[in-house]
Amino acid sequence: MVEEQEKEDRPLTGDLMFPVRCFTCGSVIAQHWDEYKKKIKSGKSERDALDELGIERYCCRRMFLTHKSIIEELARFHGAVG
Ligand SMILES: [Zn+2]
Repeated sequence: MVEEQEKEDRPLTGDLMFPVRCFTCGSVIAQHWDEYKKKIKSGKSERDALDELGIERYCCRRMFLTHKSIIEELARFHGAVG
């Protein structure tokens, strides 16, 4: 089942909730999210993945680095309310 694979891999909400723009500088970053995920999945370090995507400002880099942990926190409550 494709649906179950995605759940184990990373919750679907992770894709939907990734911010379109960097909170600090306003740069549009959402288009890099899929590629970033692919690179991490293939065993690259976060640093290498972000370097290759050309995301140099640390305000933007933290958007990617911190997104994972936020989502894992939220995922625990997914479906628990409502
Ligand atoms: Zn930024």
